[in-house]
Amino acid sequence: MTIASVIVDVPSMAIDHVFDYRVPERYEDSLEEGMRVIIPFGPRKVMGFVVKIKPDTDVVQLKEIHEVMDYTPVLTKELLELGTWIANKTLSFQITSLQVMLPQVLKAKYKKELWLLAEEIELTEALQTLFAGRVVVSFEEIEERNIPYSQIQKAIKDGNVEVRYIVKSKETKKKITWAQPIDVLQLEEALIDIPKQAKKQKAIVEFFLHNPEPVPMKKLMERLNTTRSTVKSLTERGLIEVFEKEVYRDPYENRDFERTEPLPLTEEQSEAITPIHRSIKESAHEVFLLHGVTGSGKTEVYLQSIQKALDKGEEAIVLVPEISLTPQMVQRFKGRFGSEVAVMHSGLSAGEKFDEWRKILRKEVRVVVGARSAIFAPFENLGIIIIDEEHENSYKQDDTPRYHARDIAIFRGEYHQCPVILGSATPTLETFARAKKGVYQLLTLSKRMNNQSMPEVEIVDMRKELHQGNRSMFSFPLQERIRDRLQKHEQIVLLLNRRGYSTFVMCRDCGTTMQCPHCDISLTYHRKQERLKCHYCSYEIPMPQTCPECGSESIRYFGTGTQKVEESLQQTFPEARIIRMDVDTTRRKGAHEKLLNQFREGKADILLGTQMIAKGLDFNNVTLVGVLAADSMLYIPDFRSSEKTFQLLTQVSGRAGRHELPGEVVVQTYTPDHYSIEMASQYQYDDFFQYEMRMRKRFQYPPYYFLALVTVSHPNNAYVVQVTQKIVKSLNHMSMNRTQILGPTPSPITRIKNRYRYQCMIKYKNEPNLYENMKSIIQQYEKEIQSKDLQISIDFQPTQMM
Ligand code: ADP
Ligand code: ZN
Ligand code: ZN
Repeated sequence: MTIASVIVDVPSMAIDHVFDYRVPERYEDSLEEGMRVIIPFGPRKVMGFVVKIKPDTDVVQLKEIHEVMDYTPVLTKELLELGTWIANKTLSFQITSLQVMLPQVLKAKYKKELWLLAEEIELTEALQTLFAGRVVVSFEEIEERNIPYSQIQKAIKDGNVEVRYIVKSKETKKKITWAQPIDVLQLEEALIDIPKQAKKQKAIVEFFLHNPEPVPMKKLMERLNTTRSTVKSLTERGLIEVFEKEVYRDPYENRDFERTEPLPLTEEQSEAITPIHRSIKESAHEVFLLHGVTGSGKTEVYLQSIQKALDKGEEAIVLVPEISLTPQMVQRFKGRFGSEVAVMHSGLSAGEKFDEWRKILRKEVRVVVGARSAIFAPFENLGIIIIDEEHENSYKQDDTPRYHARDIAIFRGEYHQCPVILGSATPTLETFARAKKGVYQLLTLSKRMNNQSMPEVEIVDMRKELHQGNRSMFSFPLQERIRDRLQKHEQIVLLLNRRGYSTFVMCRDCGTTMQCPHCDISLTYHRKQERLKCHYCSYEIPMPQTCPECGSESIRYFGTGTQKVEESLQQTFPEARIIRMDVDTTRRKGAHEKLLNQFREGKADILLGTQMIAKGLDFNNVTLVGVLAADSMLYIPDFRSSEKTFQLLTQVSGRAGRHELPGEVVVQTYTPDHYSIEMASQYQYDDFFQYEMRMRKRFQYPPYYFLALVTVSHPNNAYVVQVTQKIVKSLNHMSMNRTQILGPTPSPITRIKNRYRYQCMIKYKNEPNLYENMKSIIQQYEKEIQSKDLQISIDFQPTQMM
């Protein structure tokens, strides 16, 4: 007897374990671990993943697998193990942890088709009868005809047929139209016959005389500036034929990537790369922190490390933050490794993502460059994993399973015995502390290429501006420099640093902000009750009418939208051409890229945007970067606000003067003496690290303490408070001496979609039973969660405190 252990697609605590099923005879030889199956579950039929195949079971009343969905496993053995690991580490359901590794197309219910790729004659008789001259058949038909599973599986292995999933009817298979000459000799004659006036027709004929290969219609029309009807008249003359060809949905298909060669490394670069190469050569897992200032040539180190892994016959994963995954960035990898590269990011349609994923599964590519979820690329022979800008928040998934890509990278690096490289100009404190302790190996690039200096940063005190009677958002020094650049036709980047929302209170006269005396974070303004609350502990005070420091009445909460800034900017500089980039102007697919291209082509003088413009951009002509309100990030209610401010200011400064023209940076702030602003303007990462570490130690934050954030939500506020209180009580009961349970307190965003939110925070050093304890607490609420719409979420090592 063959038994399959299956994880079923029912996300519930009671069902979060494997169930055994009997494998029907017709699947016995072909079912593999990592395939998806349809199984009976209670009265329903549900999907499940086969995680183990074994000869026997203790289960007495066995049910049978109803259907096998895949012909090749969609999850490798490694990824199945990783799934269990994620479930344990993040306290999420096993099914959720497995699903997260797969492209969307495989998660939902899509229609399945079988496509013929080879000559029909290569198929078995049964399959020949099935296709009967067609190239595609539906799966319903296959089931009706009872065609043996193993035959189809073999045909797939031989590359004769292929399974395709129909996402949306029009997206399924992407075809493009091509044109080609029927007979080149005919073209020469035709050139004489075509009437003089038909210039466009002539142009096409001439084009094909020189390039007799097929070309995509679209390219042809763009190149010769002609239309479909002109091409049509040539097809009617029998000169050209038009045909359709299916393509992979490759979002970069219309771009030619210029090939690049490895650059001779600088001394610093080769010093950094030597231990990485050694680790690849010796197949020894090690985590490296590549700490390099902006423009120090980290990417070249990545590229030549990847090359080393490829030379050894291995594969590479490169993670870059979603927002930096610009065509410029893609070019750097495709330019070096060409068609070996798959690209995965959220801008792709479900179909496009699926195609890129399939290229990996079929071993058609060996390098994947992508955002967070690319860490699950189903490679089986990994030789290197790189996480660029490792400090970025987006590497943590903020929905279940709440994993951090860095942890997954290290899991996979250990599994494959290969190096993991974390790269950043401003590593997180956690990472840098580990590097200092020798847990990670520290590699340093301290100089910019060609010894270019970092741009000069000027800090402008906005309190002084106010006292000088300047009530606008643009300080006099900034205005002066903008005017200067406009005159010289050089470009300007203005950052309005506004993170989602801002609810902190600040005195515009003296720069004082209202902080919690216990937690060293800003108090959050609650408009309804006119109160300020700490959302870590339960401290709260009424909203003051005057500044407690200087008595000024200019105390108010902070925040301006980009649109308002744009209007005011346009008023101040009527002649300036401005591009605004924020969530509103970049909502449409491709808009982000389009705006950046316009700016690159010099179609605007000023690029005004939120943090999405801070990263990775590299423009020749930008010589001035302005940060309009450096403070707004400083006072988000998050213990990492200083660190995030330091990171952002460093990143954005790195945008200026990357080429021949020297750059300048102007930072506007109400708190010019704040250490993170001061140190960022001097590029003092090490000093910042030491200072901030002392703060973390004093207030007992990471990396000295671990954190876990429990958030409870429900439409009824009183109920939420009550549940959170009970949880705090149980946690206090269960935890060790040195562990602190803070709260309950309202979440910084107190209500989302009509659900009230309360939270409590666990600060701990050593809490071996925390996972078990949390699990048993949630278990107590299982009934309410299932039937009363209660939600309890827990985030270990949270990066967002919202
Ligand atoms: P980082 O990623 O550290 O910010 P980049 O990788 O963008 O830095 O490198 C900055 C610039 O230096 C790029 O234009 C890159 O092509 C160039 N560069 C990198 N390494 C070398 C080298 N060894 N020789 C010459 N130019 C280099
Ligand atoms: Zn004041
Ligand atoms: Zn507090």
